[in-house]
Amino acid sequence: MKTDISRRSFLKGTAAAAAGAALASTPVMADELLIAPAPEAAEAKHPWEIPPEPVAEADIKGTIETEVLIIGGGYSGCAAAASSAERGVQVILVEQNDALTGHGVGGTGSVGSKIIDELGGNEAMGLDKPYSVVQWLRACANRARESLVAKFFNESHRAMDWLIDLALADGGNVYLSACNSRSRHYPEQPAYHMVTGLQSSADLGWAAMSVGVPILLKKDAEEHGAQFDFKTKALYLEKDGDRVVGAICEKEDGYYRYKASLGVVLATGDISGDDEMTEYFAPIANKVYSKLYTPVGSNTGSGHKMGLWAGGSFQDGPWPCMLHPQACAGFHGPFLFVSPEGKRFMDEATWVQGKCLGVMLQAKAKYAWSIFDGHWKEDLLDSLPHGGGMFWDNFRMWGTSEQDAVDAFARQVEGAGNGTGTDGRNYFQADTLEELAKLIEVPEEEFLASVARYNEMCEAGEDVDFYKEPTFLYPIKEPPYHAAKVGPALLVIVGGLNISDNFEVLTPEDKPIPGLYATGNCSGNLYASDYPINIPGNSHGRCLTWGFLLGEQFEAMKKA
Ligand SMILES: Cc1cc2nc3c(=O)[nH]c(=O)nc-3n(C[C@H](O)[C@H](O)[C@H](O)COP(=O)(O)OP(=O)(O)OC[C@H]3O[C@@H](n4cnc5c(N)ncnc54)[C@H](O)[C@@H]3O)c2cc1C
Repeated sequence: MKTDISRRSFLKGTAAAAAGAALASTPVMADELLIAPAPEAAEAKHPWEIPPEPVAEADIKGTIETEVLIIGGGYSGCAAAASSAERGVQVILVEQNDALTGHGVGGTGSVGSKIIDELGGNEAMGLDKPYSVVQWLRACANRARESLVAKFFNESHRAMDWLIDLALADGGNVYLSACNSRSRHYPEQPAYHMVTGLQSSADLGWAAMSVGVPILLKKDAEEHGAQFDFKTKALYLEKDGDRVVGAICEKEDGYYRYKASLGVVLATGDISGDDEMTEYFAPIANKVYSKLYTPVGSNTGSGHKMGLWAGGSFQDGPWPCMLHPQACAGFHGPFLFVSPEGKRFMDEATWVQGKCLGVMLQAKAKYAWSIFDGHWKEDLLDSLPHGGGMFWDNFRMWGTSEQDAVDAFARQVEGAGNGTGTDGRNYFQADTLEELAKLIEVPEEEFLASVARYNEMCEAGEDVDFYKEPTFLYPIKEPPYHAAKVGPALLVIVGGLNISDNFEVLTPEDKPIPGLYATGNCSGNLYASDYPINIPGNSHGRCLTWGFLLGEQFEAMKKA
């Protein structure tokens, strides 16, 4: 059976569904399983709406039973597995690849933690919860579900404390990063917790930063009896009446029926590996310089689709994208940006999403240049108390000095000419502006005029072109002159299945589908329109918190 769904297989699928309908008119045993109903041919408009053909009963090699089946071995699935297993719930996690998935530097956001408590608590650290919730909702154009946002604000502290205990028990360290912006326009809270030095992933070296927490959670889950089945891809869910009771999965040696008595959790990640879904739900995502999700092709929204075929519904579009200006240079500060045409086009002293979108909304180009002069280190140091955020400040530990960030960036800017980017040279340096224009291939006349105009406004102390805060108006006058390439990157698309406040997948009528849950990027409603970063690292924070709470829910269900 093909798992890629084409129009042709859809036609075959409807024939199979018709055969299924005929069978259903004959008496069925109470425990007989029925495949999730396929939408009628006339209703199916998009490829993702079309379920695959059911696997023939004769081709199913065996049945594997558990209480909770988790589909997807990323951060969210592993958190749900560990929390459930710790509470005595029987868990099987199926992962299509031969390894777990994890990303970036792995920083996890929470609203409070025992580390923050030791530093004096949220209030002492400047976290004003009502204000921060409003910031979040504004970034989401007030279309996020407020009760879910409040749930994250109320519960992420407990989930983070759990992670901290697990990390310390594994010989690791957890530190709070000082990378949050101090801007009065784009304030970010101290929330980004970084886990380092874990023994369970020590053999991975640097890669441990990204996948270390999922590995830690897997270790904890397995110590409490959970089973992880790799190279096992869930194809579709099975229902008994309204209730989701399991999934058909494909392994190397054939098809298996997984049955779950308490629930199935969709933890399959985002949709950005499916071009058609991305174009439909998040078209802006296709304007980025590059997409950074790995393993490439693992995030095709398969859980979104399985949930939909089982009667679930999607949150309204357009879906928010997590955008960071890290596709090219890893540093650009608050300095002048020019387009490849040599023109200034935005207020550069903004947050990561704002920087990306500003660059992406230029006419054609997918990148820009950040231009700064030989005084940049002093200017950066001067800017950090009033600004910052990722790629303006770095992931340094809370309590370290701003000079540490300057020194770290100096190694990039003045070093080998490469940042964290994926695209060759990202930093250039020249003794004259004319020479710099040649190096970065922008029209010299336009570029010199843009710098002259910018310098005039720096001198006047007012940016009447884009109204950047005067404190960030640093002139470009002293050689050597620098250019850093600013490339917007798509990390993930954070829209998904409509869920209840207890993570149950909802029908279009807002009714929970019994036995079906979604978490991580497969789940919706915590974000809308844009990805808020005023609690930095909240995407991993959601994976951790929703997983932690799902474990508590399954424990309560088991005891009921
Ligand atoms: C480069 C990069 C850096 C990032 N940095 C940060 C950061 O610092 N802080 C932060 O908060 N967020 C960060 N993010 C975002 C964050 O990593 C993700 O949002 C989060 O990891 C999503 O976790 P998930 O469990 O929902 O999905 P994923 O991590 O995508 O995991 C889904 C898993 O499900 C598996 N799967 C899919 N379909 C099936 C199927 N049918 N059957 C079986 N298995 C299946 C996949 O193979 C995968 O292993 C970053 C993202 C990227 C790309």
